[in-house]
Amino acid sequence: MKDQLERALDQVLARNPGEREFHQAVREVFDSLGPVLAKHPQYVDAAVLERLCEPERQIIFRVPWVDDAGRVQINRGFRVEFSSALGPYKGGLRFHPSVYLGIVKFLGFEQVFKNALTGMPIGGGKGGSDFDPRGRSDGEVMRFCQSFMTELYRHIGEHTDVPAGDIGVGGREIGYLFGQYKRITNRYESGVLTGKGLTWGGSLVRTEATGYGTVLFAERMLATAGASFDGRRVVVSGAGNVAVHAIEKAQALGAHVVACSDSAGYVLDERGIDLDLLRQVREVERERVSVYAERRGATYVPGRRVWEVGAHVALPCATQNELDEHDARALVDSGLLVVAEGANMPTTPAAVALLQDAGVLFAPGKAANAGGVATSALEMQQNASRDSWTFEHTEARLAEIMHDVHDRCLATADEYGVPGSYVAGANIGGFVRVADAMLA
Ligand code: GLU
Repeated sequence: MKDQLERALDQVLARNPGEREFHQAVREVFDSLGPVLAKHPQYVDAAVLERLCEPERQIIFRVPWVDDAGRVQINRGFRVEFSSALGPYKGGLRFHPSVYLGIVKFLGFEQVFKNALTGMPIGGGKGGSDFDPRGRSDGEVMRFCQSFMTELYRHIGEHTDVPAGDIGVGGREIGYLFGQYKRITNRYESGVLTGKGLTWGGSLVRTEATGYGTVLFAERMLATAGASFDGRRVVVSGAGNVAVHAIEKAQALGAHVVACSDSAGYVLDERGIDLDLLRQVREVERERVSVYAERRGATYVPGRRVWEVGAHVALPCATQNELDEHDARALVDSGLLVVAEGANMPTTPAAVALLQDAGVLFAPGKAANAGGVATSALEMQQNASRDSWTFEHTEARLAEIMHDVHDRCLATADEYGVPGSYVAGANIGGFVRVADAMLA
């Protein structure tokens, strides 16, 4: 089986040259699959692995738009429709200058497994653009989104492909995208995008869901060790939508959240992060965390990573490969118990190995951050039934889903002889569900 896996992996790497993040994501899943293929040779016979690594469809397109100075700008748009075995392609759009095909494919690949783990009827996909919204006016962002949708609309639909947000795409962008979709198609098709505004088809709790879900997952991890968030020192990376809501929920559970960050540096606030101020600075003023530190009288450390301050619980909520071996060592030395990934693939493979060897409970993003997409699926349910649920009901569904994903990871890890490994449990659990649907 090992040979079979290695051959398949070599083939995937050779077929997708230069896509470093995609290689990393595929390798990480393949590393877990030995016990599954040994037990179920039908997956090998049907070339399920090879099929899963080749997206069903990949769309790359030109996005021309006019900036405030009247100049024409050109960006590149992507949508990778990875797997529709379980339902319509589902996954966010990322607008960030680092976006290229390899990033979109890594995210789409992860999304397939994540979405399967939620137990909901959604396939996997991802998209985005190398457009950088930072420093752009609302008008520029709107014209970009309209141009992006002018191509994308023909590929999506509530039964086909349902985008949502990711880095650089929040409520404002979803609004512009939905408006353009509606104008072009002359259809009020609520279920074509998720993360919509509350007055026009959005779901309560969708904004909070990824951050809340990650903390609910971590709470369940702590419980397996007889521990809780109460009084624990928590460090969060990022200061975007995921990080802010992770901080909120961790604080509600009694945690002492002392740090968060952005790409320029981190803030250390030993009195505990003041969430109202953080939200004012980030969400209203769209400013950096250095502004928070200044106003709050907290310490700002430019150009370094937040992990060096030490924690019992680390929640990486920023971006891929933001926590490496060196960071993991510093965290372990500070008494770390749990890492739950709110971002996608934030921990490098060497750091994951180090954390696991040190006995830290480690949950990969495809399990721990599944609350975002799961609540997107709840938004689709509400749209399909022309209903809107209360906050309490929706949050209770989210909590139930996160607990199920957690318990399924552990049960699957046990079943396949790797007890306690959330990584193996998530990869195997997601794989088996998609593979069985493909074979059927
Ligand atoms: N971008 C989010 C993720 O990484 C959410 C996607 C969605 O809601 O479709 O899972």
